[in-house]
Amino acid sequence: MSEQLNTSFRPRKFSQLIGQDRITSRIRESLKQRSSASWLFSGESGSGKTTLGRIMAVSFNCVHQKEFGEPCRDCYKNRFSFDYHEVNASKDSGKERMEKIIADANIYPKHGSNCKTYLLDEFQRLSDSTQDMLLKLLEDSPKTTKWILCTSEPDEVIRAIWRRVKSYGLEPLKEDDIRKLIRVVLKFTGDSEDKCSPVKLTESLLENGITSSGFVVKAIESRLSGASYEEAAVVEFSSTFNPKALLHAVLKGDWNDTRKELGSATKEDARAIRRNLAAYLSVTLIESENLDDNTGAVAKAIEKLTDAAGENSIVLARVRASCFELCRIFKKNSR
Ligand SMILES: [Zn+2]
Repeated sequence: MSEQLNTSFRPRKFSQLIGQDRITSRIRESLKQRSSASWLFSGESGSGKTTLGRIMAVSFNCVHQKEFGEPCRDCYKNRFSFDYHEVNASKDSGKERMEKIIADANIYPKHGSNCKTYLLDEFQRLSDSTQDMLLKLLEDSPKTTKWILCTSEPDEVIRAIWRRVKSYGLEPLKEDDIRKLIRVVLKFTGDSEDKCSPVKLTESLLENGITSSGFVVKAIESRLSGASYEEAAVVEFSSTFNPKALLHAVLKGDWNDTRKELGSATKEDARAIRRNLAAYLSVTLIESENLDDNTGAVAKAIEKLTDAAGENSIVLARVRASCFELCRIFKKNSR
């Protein structure tokens, strides 16, 4: 169900993207200066990389727009009638499959298209050797071939790729942007602010450290189908994982319960747990009066949590280590 609103609401013009004005104006500027052929967008999952990439891809072919990034509705809707290839590397990561997909990258675009455009989503899922294979293409493709790479884990993209692309990091949404997005979505669904208060939902989202548009839209949908503000703001986890229970176990200093709760988390949950826990503990730290000597230790643990980078499995291991450390601090504290 949460897929539905995210799909139907998806912006199809730069001017409809909230909180990304800086990036879209930089893209327009760079296109005026010289025609770049390869782009890399990085940002958290749900931050709008793919949406931005799609709008760009259509814009390279729409001849009806007044300004780049504002493609017409028909071209957007019929984008696959152009020479446009969208690949989700988490599904098509095989080297052979990629070879097939890009076999004609050096050929002139098909009739009716100005450009041949490749959108390679979840790019980090391609193996290093497959990324290597793309290097030459990024460099030598004709001007009419455009590459748009998107990644939620920039550390997993090989260095040589970075040198051959124009890269942009999508910004986390600010408080004002989140409220604005909620209002825009409510207008779109025709629901009133009584049903989903932009102020209250934004508050809950920020408490959970959620700042990406995709997750904000999910939360709105959840709220509109009857969830409390608190429940609606919990949007990033696998169905079996309970972030609240984990937080309580950690704060009680109960490592056994903490370990049990972490046991139901998947690797994909790791980053969200890290962010959720860090955001919650920061608030606790600000509000708590009795942390005293341990304040520094908790702050250090938070820092460690937010530092974790790399593979999902490594992140999960670090989250476990941080939780263990936190349990120890809180247990000592409650004595
Ligand atoms: Zn058009």
